[in-house]
Amino acid sequence: MKVFKFGGASVTDAPSVQNVGRILTMFPHEKICVVISAMGKTTNRLEKVTEAWINQDVAVLQLVSELEQYHTSISKALNDAGKSGIKLIMNDIRRFLETAPPSNPDAAYDLLVSQGELLSTAIISDYLNLNGITNQLLDARKVIITSESHRNARILWDETNSRIVAAFDEANPDQNAPITLTQGFIGNSITGHPVTLGREGSDFSAAVFAHALDATEMIIWKDVAGVYNADPRYFSDVVKLNQISYRDAIELAYFGASVIHPKTIQPLQNKNIPLYVKSFCDPLNEGTLIHQFTDNESMIPSFIVKPGQVLVSITPKDFSFVAEDGLHNIFGLLSHMGIRINLMQNSAISFSICIDDNPEKLKRLFTALGGEFTVKYNQALELITIRYYTKKVIDKIIGKRKIFLEQRSRLTVQLVVEEK
Ligand code: ADP
Ligand code: ASP
Ligand code: MG
Repeated sequence: MKVFKFGGASVTDAPSVQNVGRILTMFPHEKICVVISAMGKTTNRLEKVTEAWINQDVAVLQLVSELEQYHTSISKALNDAGKSGIKLIMNDIRRFLETAPPSNPDAAYDLLVSQGELLSTAIISDYLNLNGITNQLLDARKVIITSESHRNARILWDETNSRIVAAFDEANPDQNAPITLTQGFIGNSITGHPVTLGREGSDFSAAVFAHALDATEMIIWKDVAGVYNADPRYFSDVVKLNQISYRDAIELAYFGASVIHPKTIQPLQNKNIPLYVKSFCDPLNEGTLIHQFTDNESMIPSFIVKPGQVLVSITPKDFSFVAEDGLHNIFGLLSHMGIRINLMQNSAISFSICIDDNPEKLKRLFTALGGEFTVKYNQALELITIRYYTKKVIDKIIGKRKIFLEQRSRLTVQLVVEEK
């Protein structure tokens, strides 16, 4: 069994859906589980629909008809593939919008935003079947079972593994096609409510399927030829990495290399399943192989830039040490407010954190800390992470920019610098 994942960029219009079909025909007689994201920028659009619903904004109607038009025009160009499916899903969406949103806005989000993947798979599954690529559609919400934490649901592994295995069991009368199509990013909580796994979570969904199915390999099909040593959208003279270790991949993804969702690697590493990142425009190109690999010769410096950072320094007003209980309170607050620390450092009487610059969250954080601590901050910064760093690479990237914070380990350096 192979697991493929096609992201939003690989299914943005009719020709790209036809391209998915072409890629699948390159693997005749293979058993393949195909995990698909919402088409193009659909998830962003559904986020706007949710916001309008929660604010009872009349703009919601216009947004919903744009959503419908987008999918209908793709379906039309594919001989009406998925037409009836689109109708049913759009009816559901309109029915939700006629009622008051759930009191928990995150539950409202999951209810609506999960529809994007349902729309894309309805169209693509039908298109493939109409064109001789026999497949069946599996509703991911029946097998991906999670905690109740909306928008960032945690997989309940035992339940999920056994449901996936049962759904793909050859004795299962539903399992008569070599290809099974399913949705990334979505699932159901154990109590039966729709959930999502976090933005860009379809890579992770595919890894969950690969893990449960003991897949021989997983391929994520991207608009780039593989994993590069930096984001090719922002840097010229980048180098494609032909193979990297799970360890390097997880570090790069964790620091923000957005080509792979950071949660993707662990389920694959645990079962030693190789992951390929390949180009959907050039499927014969070998791409990047991520696997158990310990060749130190491939230590090409990789760099990741996270713009929009703020460096916050927190100092107790009474000049006391930032001891364990102080840190405990600060961490508790950050976790409660859903603020992720991108880098941290402490000295005797101050604790510094580099976090995403989200004005609303910052304001709440400063208010909460204000009683006990003096809080200072610098904005308009970027966090640069270089794995396998050399002095030459650091100098080239930083140039003459002011460095606010620097942290080095044996393999990785992280620098907080002013934005270019
Ligand atoms: P998907 O369609 O699966 O959602 P994404 O847009 O999330 O695809 O991921 C592909 C993008 O990741 C590329 O267009 C590229 O700009 C970006 N990217 C960031 N860092 C890297 C990197 N180190 N190597 C390759 N691509 C990268
Ligand atoms: N559709 C979701 C998103 O855009 C999940 C994904 O594409 O991975 O975030
Ligand atoms: Mg993506």
